[in-house]
Amino acid sequence: MTRIPRPTAEEMIRKTFARFTDDEIIPKAREMDEAGKFPRWMFEKIAKTGAYAMRYPRKIGGAGGNTTQFCIMVEELARGSMSVAAFTAMQCLMGTNFLYQYGTKDHHERLLKPALRGEKVASFALTEADAATDLGGAKTMAVRDGDHWLINGSKTWITNAPVADFFTVLCQTDKTQGLKGLNFFLIERETPGLYVSKKFEKLGTRATEIAELAFSDVRIPLENRLGQDGQGVGNLMRILAVIRTMTAALSIGLARAAFECSKRYSLERTQFKKRIGSFQLIQQKIANMATEIWGANLMTYKAAEMIDRGERALKEASMAKYFASETACRASDEATRIYGAYSYSMEYDVQRFYRDCRFLLFGGGTSEILQTIISREEGVY
Ligand SMILES: Cc1cc2nc3c(=O)[nH]c(=O)nc-3n(C[C@H](O)[C@H](O)[C@H](O)COP(=O)(O)OP(=O)(O)OC[C@H]3O[C@@H](n4cnc5c(N)ncnc54)[C@H](O)[C@@H]3O)c2cc1C
Repeated sequence: MTRIPRPTAEEMIRKTFARFTDDEIIPKAREMDEAGKFPRWMFEKIAKTGAYAMRYPRKIGGAGGNTTQFCIMVEELARGSMSVAAFTAMQCLMGTNFLYQYGTKDHHERLLKPALRGEKVASFALTEADAATDLGGAKTMAVRDGDHWLINGSKTWITNAPVADFFTVLCQTDKTQGLKGLNFFLIERETPGLYVSKKFEKLGTRATEIAELAFSDVRIPLENRLGQDGQGVGNLMRILAVIRTMTAALSIGLARAAFECSKRYSLERTQFKKRIGSFQLIQQKIANMATEIWGANLMTYKAAEMIDRGERALKEASMAKYFASETACRASDEATRIYGAYSYSMEYDVQRFYRDCRFLLFGGGTSEILQTIISREEGVY
């Protein structure tokens, strides 16, 4: 009797989140995009799948999942809605990672565990008006004042800011120390002196909410510095490979969605009494999309595998993010050409893919910065 091999954990995760995306996200994706608001009901629905806790250890209520499994999950969500995948990624990784690594027991009980259950929303604030790619230029200051930190400054482009319960915020503690003068701090929403401005109107990922933060004499306890003094940037570097590989996985999800639509339409639409898919120039587009998605896949999951083995993967994660995000942009661009005028109609999803893919070019490093890193890793700088 032949034994049917049991599915691996990765296959189970792919199947579970593929089904969730098909049944729960895709039917609502357009509605969420048009509403332009954080869909709390969807955030709560995702919480029930255990997604937010997936990559954390069991002892704090997680599932003990690895980076490969996490990437599979966000890739499947991104196939349905980039907004949903983006706020899920924020909750699973950037918004909660520092709290998990460097927070106190009280932080874990009051904030982290509820966040992993989807009862609190997390956010991550690095970017400032004049310090974006150049994080070292951050001007938001945290000054020690007795047994508190006093925070003044502002942040911009902060995902989830209008709805978040707590923020992990990058601040300067000593301007003379360069990157070593940067540290992360936990700031809870209700802290006096924290202001959230009106949200941004934006091109894509419209079901996420983004706003500016202002800090005016925000007073927080000493234990809210997350990590050893001067280790902020070093600690960020430790998860940057995961952030980049995860963004590559988001890119694959979107590219696959654009590709599937393109194939379907190429087989349906007729011109000159022929399916447009019978024209070689359309076939070339399909072939290029398939090839690039395959390449992005190999690069992304190879980088994830390296991270799971405890390797540095700086170059490989940068390559994966660079290639996969550009692949997603090219795939959604080609999809609009295959759909022709209908891609311009809000009735078809390709316009959403075309708008949402631009988001992938910024988070985790722009293509220009990633190219700079790859070249440096190759010894040319
Ligand atoms: C939808 C969305 C969500 C976001 N969410 C968050 C969030 O939750 N938290 C947060 O902190 N930030 C967030 N950001 C901000 C994001 O991290 C920044 O957009 C990113 O850091 C790049 O900054 P910038 O767009 O201002 O570009 P800039 O840094 O101003 O760069 C402008 C251009 O110059 C290039 N450039 C800059 N420096 C170099 C260099 N040394 N060599 C070559 N080229 C260079 C860049 O590649 C880019 O092409 C978000 C942005 C978007 C669009």
